[in-house]
Amino acid sequence: MLWWILLILALVYIGLLAYRALRFRPAPEEARRPPRAPAVTEMAVAVKLSELVKLPTVSFMDGKGEDPAVFSAFQEKLHALYPAVAERCERMLIGEKGIIYRWPGRSGEKPSVMMSHYDVVPAPDENWVHPPFSGAILDGYVWGRGSIDTKCTLAAAMEAAEQLIGEGFVPENDIYFCFSGDEEVAGPTAPAILSALQKAGVRPWFVLDEGGGIVSDPLPGVSRACAQIGACEKGQAELIFTAEALPGHASRPPRHTALGQVARAIRRMESRPWPLRYSPVFLQMAQTLGPYAKWPWRLVYANLGPLRPFISLATGLRGGEFSSQLRTTAAFTMAEGSAATNVLPQRAMASANARIMPGENSKSARRRAQRIARGLGVKVEAQVFSEPSPISRTDDEVWRTLCDAVQDVWPEALPLPFLYMACTDSRHYSRVCEHVYRFSALAWTKEERALMHSYNERISVKALGRMQAFYQCLMMKL
Ligand SMILES: [Zn+2]
Repeated sequence: MLWWILLILALVYIGLLAYRALRFRPAPEEARRPPRAPAVTEMAVAVKLSELVKLPTVSFMDGKGEDPAVFSAFQEKLHALYPAVAERCERMLIGEKGIIYRWPGRSGEKPSVMMSHYDVVPAPDENWVHPPFSGAILDGYVWGRGSIDTKCTLAAAMEAAEQLIGEGFVPENDIYFCFSGDEEVAGPTAPAILSALQKAGVRPWFVLDEGGGIVSDPLPGVSRACAQIGACEKGQAELIFTAEALPGHASRPPRHTALGQVARAIRRMESRPWPLRYSPVFLQMAQTLGPYAKWPWRLVYANLGPLRPFISLATGLRGGEFSSQLRTTAAFTMAEGSAATNVLPQRAMASANARIMPGENSKSARRRAQRIARGLGVKVEAQVFSEPSPISRTDDEVWRTLCDAVQDVWPEALPLPFLYMACTDSRHYSRVCEHVYRFSALAWTKEERALMHSYNERISVKALGRMQAFYQCLMMKL
């Protein structure tokens, strides 16, 4: 009898979930408008990007191996490549690697900041079809390190301004182009640029940096063109696990060496993923895109609340991109023990790169890791790189202006806020501006996204043209 009751209850529960999924329908869409992107000469931006890629502006954590002459050569090349910008806009160089151009508008009241960085990560020659700093324009692509990350946004924004200035256009509000040369190593330039702006009395009203793009697979199970605009970003910290023990000969080991203790902590950490946390931007995305999902994903998105324990378990066990959108993560990347194979380590260390969800912070991440490692003789410390950013507004005119510019170029794409999982220089602006967005204005596949920081990084000439068109549309609205 009891079994029958349980079976009926289970069937009713499943029926309810299915009913909710069936009623989960897309909001009626406005008739798709025609594209309003201006015509651009894609090759012009491609040729200039190629010139910029040829300069190996590689930044290093310790600064060793960097060539300051290349960075100043980049600054001068940029000035020479965009003569109209150079003439119309005031240039300020900040420190050794910061560049600001101020394009005066009719008003200085609501200034915008177009951000980018021109330093790149190292690119060993192996595996590249065309050398990483060749800037080759071949097969419809500009090849080379930095072509995607992110000299492309820099070149496209500058070309857009060059074009508009040439047409005699004056923006409604001042537009600042702020480029840093040490983003990849979390250098001091972006904060220095921000404080220079603040000293000059500039309060950024709208900030755009690299970030999301146009994708056709925004969520698992969903095939729908979508413009993913980063409205917030995760924080980052190194969680360092250390254990100490007496040194000695490896022929007479204790049950667990110091390295073994650390390994046990790693094992515990990996078997206990962070609890699920639906960020407001994820909920907005699931609510809007869930109705387009195929089964059984539609059932999932329609029932995020009731299915929470299952989603938590399944994503936690699986890991990967979707899971990372839903929780803080910690990836163990480095470990260290004894210096010789037959010597017991006196000190062992492992380090996990933690990416922290908005709503949490590095302190809570460290505390949780320490709790998990309790009883193992392992100490956990945190080296904080950045705290999670606040969530920018997605309910006002500024957000709608950005979405409008996106749809001028990609009318088929639904603009939606999302959680950007990497760190950008724009995080410094989140303290002083509630409209900080991360969007690279680029339609890309998962494979193309994977080219960042990898070999054969390249961007299509066509994509560059659309990127420039987007900046033009945006600048005309700001
Ligand atoms: Zn970047």
